[in-house]
Amino acid sequence: MTTLTSMDSETLRSRHDAVRAEYEAFKARGLKLDMTRGKPSPEQLDLSNAMLTLPGNGDYFAEGNVDARNYGGLNGLPETRRLFSQMIQAPADQIVVGDNSSLALMHGTIVSALLKGVPDSNAPWSEGAPTFLCPVPGYDRHFAICEELGIRMIPVPMTGEGPDMDMVERLVEDHAVKGIWCVPKYSNPSGETYSLETSRRLAAMKTAAPDFRIFWDNAYSVHHLTKDHHTIPDILALCAEAGNPNRAFIFASTSKVTLPGAGLAFFASSPENVRWYLERAFFRTIGPDKLNQLRHVRFLKDHAGLEAHMEKQAQIVAPKFEALLQILEAKLGGTGAAEWLRPAGGYFVTLNAVEGTAKRIVSLAKEAGIALTPAGATSPYGQDQHDRTLRLAPTFPSLSDVKAAAEGIAICTLLAAIEKQAGIHG
Ligand code: PMP
Repeated sequence: MTTLTSMDSETLRSRHDAVRAEYEAFKARGLKLDMTRGKPSPEQLDLSNAMLTLPGNGDYFAEGNVDARNYGGLNGLPETRRLFSQMIQAPADQIVVGDNSSLALMHGTIVSALLKGVPDSNAPWSEGAPTFLCPVPGYDRHFAICEELGIRMIPVPMTGEGPDMDMVERLVEDHAVKGIWCVPKYSNPSGETYSLETSRRLAAMKTAAPDFRIFWDNAYSVHHLTKDHHTIPDILALCAEAGNPNRAFIFASTSKVTLPGAGLAFFASSPENVRWYLERAFFRTIGPDKLNQLRHVRFLKDHAGLEAHMEKQAQIVAPKFEALLQILEAKLGGTGAAEWLRPAGGYFVTLNAVEGTAKRIVSLAKEAGIALTPAGATSPYGQDQHDRTLRLAPTFPSLSDVKAAAEGIAICTLLAAIEKQAGIHG
């Protein structure tokens, strides 16, 4: 296909008329499609239906004769921590299980840091001008936590193997910089996985703040889409080897393993950080929902059971990614109207459109019945300097809806690119 930039103005005009007609025809179908949130589909949730009757009437004694119905067990059941140890890449005794949302744990951890400080410094973060580095494109809810809690954000571009580490290393020379958001595997939304080199540099870099923390949100650890299962290094071990044993806070959950509305969330870190975390948690709860922890153990059994379950998830999800990517390729390939990566896991496809067209694409799509995540959502403060990045979430809609949405998105992307190139204001 000819790139738009190489077309003369007459060809561009006739291409515009053709794509505009395609757009009007798509709009006339009166569809209602939603590609906004990375939620599991009902079929994915059905995979965990057997959990709804677990642990079962009479099955409430956990290891060591612990009565899971009762208060207590602030750090979670040992068998649950063991079950998820490989997924989280932390020893079971350095894992805390609590709540059903890892975002709640991230939020709580930052609130505690702001009010009480973290190990390696007694000063509460709120005494300074706490600042986080935010790899972009990134997860809008990470950025929302920072905005909500008054933490300044500095965007850092992603490179294909994690954030631009030269820039990160420069920025952490400022003692106000207290943290960095990282989604190290199948990142939200670019799908990229951090390289060993990136992880090593994060673990070893010299930070002006002694209490700097990596928020290692390993939300997609077992969420593979292909046979090429990505691996990431053991960040706790890398930090310890580099002489920064307390640097990483790991977060994870079973939201997209079992049931997001009734999952388990995890915090893992160095023994000192775990002690600090539990000291704070003590004031918030007398103990987590241990029946749910037992339910997960009875259902998934062990790491092999978890992997087999995730394979079933992949069988439902992968065809939707495939359909989306095939349609993007068929309609946009070679036009120069957009670029995208083929993710090997996770929940998203990032579409990088022609600079200055993302907002236009979202509004064209809306008019045609397709809800897209707002342009800018993948940047701190919702501001994409280049107005080009769109996050597509194909898991929730049915396969036929994903196909229809992909077609519509491709048409909108092409139309916006042609308008921009031809100087047509739609
Ligand atoms: N972190 C990332 C990177 C995510 O993409 C998501 C879900 N979209 C979450 C956290 C939310 O996790 P939870 O349900 O455990 O709060």
